[in-house]
Amino acid sequence: MDPIEKVQAQYQQVRREIADAAIACGRDSEDVMCLAVSKTADVDAIHAVIQLGQKDFAENRVQVALPKIQALASMHLGDITWHFIGPIQSNKTEDIAKHFSWVHSVDRMKVAERLSAQRSPSLPPLNICVQVKVENDPERQGVAFADIIHFCDQLSPLTNIKLRGLMCMPAASASEEEIHQAFAKTKQMLETLNQKGYHLDTLSMGMSGDYQIAIQEGSTMVRVGTAIFK
Ligand SMILES: *Cc1c(COP(=O)(O)O)cnc(C)c1O
Repeated sequence: MDPIEKVQAQYQQVRREIADAAIACGRDSEDVMCLAVSKTADVDAIHAVIQLGQKDFAENRVQVALPKIQALASMHLGDITWHFIGPIQSNKTEDIAKHFSWVHSVDRMKVAERLSAQRSPSLPPLNICVQVKVENDPERQGVAFADIIHFCDQLSPLTNIKLRGLMCMPAASASEEEIHQAFAKTKQMLETLNQKGYHLDTLSMGMSGDYQIAIQEGSTMVRVGTAIFK
């Protein structure tokens, strides 16, 4: 099969599986958004899924993303929404604030402050998810559960970013049971925040290997790369 047709078939398969997983647990298939993680994909592969209606793409490295974002913009394919999902270095926040609409991996105040300061007020606020650390591993990215409320409260004065929800990523070594628990705890945290007066609508959870579990546990946005673009 030609590589473009292969990507298109894989994309359609993923979309069907997301819808089926939602329906199987009594959810509306429209409630789970598919974020196509294009970090390993070239412009042609991205274009192939845009042709099938995909509008939301995620990248994890600024230097890799920018040429693709620019190339696709010059093709005038309609609105494409770019999501940043990778580790954030302070010296990259300006490019992220300029070229992306969402950032899923905010876990330090300094980064949040820079993103807000560097986001142009002429653009809509940058949508933010706080990345939650789901293991007690100090080496891992993310804000510990115990610190999430305080962290979110500190974001409120930052006017050019808009907190939308939480992101989590279980360790590659996690068992199925641990993955369920990590997603369930993250959902519980979102509910706790909403009980405190937040209006958060986004749980960014689930990748190629675990998006079915994430959907069962309430994910509203799955980040799928390999299953689409392998
Ligand atoms: C690469 C990546 C994904 C997608 O992972 P796949 O297993 O390829 O679907 C999701 N989230 C983040 C943060 C990533 O870096």
